Amino acid sequence: MHTKSSTIITALVIMVGMAIPIALSAYLARTGAVEAEKSFALTYANDVLARSEAVLRQVDTGFRKLDQSNAGAPCSPAHRALMKQVDLASSFIQAVGYVEGKTILCSTLGAEFPPIDLGAVDLARANGVNLRFNVVFPFAPGSRFLTVERHGYVAIVHKDLPINATANTPGVALATFAYPELRVITANGLAKPEWIKSATTSNRTFIDSDYVVATVTSKHYPIGALCAIPIANLDQRTRASLKTLIPAGLLGSLLFAWAVLYVSKLRTSMPSIIKGALKRKEFFLEYQPLVELSTGKWVGAEVLIRWRRTQGEFIRPDTFVPVAEENGLIQKVTEYVLDRVATDTAELFRRHPEFHLGINLSSADLHDEATVSMLLRMAAATHARHTNFIVEATESSFTDYGLASVVINRLREEGFAVAIDDFGTGYSSLSYLQRIRLDYLKIDKSFVAALDTSAATSDVTLHIIEMAKSLKLQMIAEGVETEAQARFLRQKGVQYAQGWLFARPMALPELMRQLEERAAAELTAP
Ligand code: C2E
Ligand code: CA
Ligand code: CA
Repeated sequence: MHTKSSTIITALVIMVGMAIPIALSAYLARTGAVEAEKSFALTYANDVLARSEAVLRQVDTGFRKLDQSNAGAPCSPAHRALMKQVDLASSFIQAVGYVEGKTILCSTLGAEFPPIDLGAVDLARANGVNLRFNVVFPFAPGSRFLTVERHGYVAIVHKDLPINATANTPGVALATFAYPELRVITANGLAKPEWIKSATTSNRTFIDSDYVVATVTSKHYPIGALCAIPIANLDQRTRASLKTLIPAGLLGSLLFAWAVLYVSKLRTSMPSIIKGALKRKEFFLEYQPLVELSTGKWVGAEVLIRWRRTQGEFIRPDTFVPVAEENGLIQKVTEYVLDRVATDTAELFRRHPEFHLGINLSSADLHDEATVSMLLRMAAATHARHTNFIVEATESSFTDYGLASVVINRLREEGFAVAIDDFGTGYSSLSYLQRIRLDYLKIDKSFVAALDTSAATSDVTLHIIEMAKSLKLQMIAEGVETEAQARFLRQKGVQYAQGWLFARPMALPELMRQLEERAAAELTAP
């Protein structure tokens, strides 16, 4: 009936699921390219900054030397010789000159040069340094120079020196700027003022419309550097990495589609597969010991169904029991379980007449009186007493209280014990607990697990224990995995427990073997 809509849903899930890995790979390609581009920009900017710092270091060293030496009268031969010395020692400095006002009176350019007018100062710093960003000298009319002036001396630096060597990438813009004044000193290509305005003492990378931009500032000198790479380069890089990422994304999509199809096929064909499995007897039983907490004795076991398909594939009961329930097959499954218990356990009860077996029943079983006669037949075959069996009924069975109570009351009249299973996990109202007599309450493993975690949930566990006590129900705690949980439950008066701490579910021969072993150990114990 729902096939059509569920096919559409499956198709939608597949489409969305396939789109996600592709979108993800595109996204990864893009973010990967952005990250790569940002780190390129940062590397370039740092490179420019390092060159600029090297220039300023030389200028600084030169000025200090000029300040400290006493070379006699300005522009005397001795004074010129000193300036020449400084010039020669500094590979980045083109020339050194002596300045009065705005005029170079003499310099290392040579005695033949007349006084040169430097023009207006672009940036005057508080420490007495005057910067001019675009000085043109008569000896090199096509070039612009940066001059740094201090205490009567000027260093002439070729402007492009710091921004020259790096960029072999097309379209990359490099710039240096005065920091914190945020004014461009040198630039090749586009260096938007607002990019420079955003520079801070820490490195920055960002995207501004068409550019990936990086700004850095010096820790030693009042300067910074910028690099801007056009987004076009980024798109190239994205395409390059898409070439490798898209196939990976496609593979992910296909795997996902396959998984969805597999699961949906399994779900739609599961009922007929279950029927086949019942016929081919692919189901078998395991038994998980039930331990008396005060003595550690194995006083019983819960019967758990297992399914291994002929191809060897193992299917968990959590998966197929709900499918069997939804498709009206669960009573067939229960019948199968009861048949197996009937044929297999006579020997167990002969050797251990006090042993208990817990049998899981679903709500369909509890709503059908035929279950009572099925259980009576099974008990007869095992030659055990009815009191040796604990019927486990889940809370959901009580949604139809009237029907369930008829079957449960009859079972109890026959002497079978009844446990409420998975208590606290259903949505049903708890009022049925007051109206119907039961024997055991199984504390669900989620409440046992909560004991060592959240305080709020473990309060609920204590509540459940108190409720069971007031209703005079014996308690079986499920999923006990640690000694601490066992100790706590024992202290609170919980009588029985099952869980991996004591034993995992096992085949019947193994259960019998371990029971013998334990009985022998008891006999020889002091
Ligand atoms: P359940 O009735 O709550 O069964 C207990 C489950 O807890 C079992 O899972 C058991 O293997 C598992 N378990 C036992 N000790 C521990 C532990 O220490 N830690 C943890 N984490 N788990 C533990 P299983 O066998 O997978 O069964 C799952 C569910 O399938 C059962 O839950 C029950 O609702 C259903 N089921 C199993 N056998 C039958 C059956 O014969 N008939 C029906 N109708 N349902 C069954
Ligand atoms: Ca159970
Ligand atoms: Ca349970």
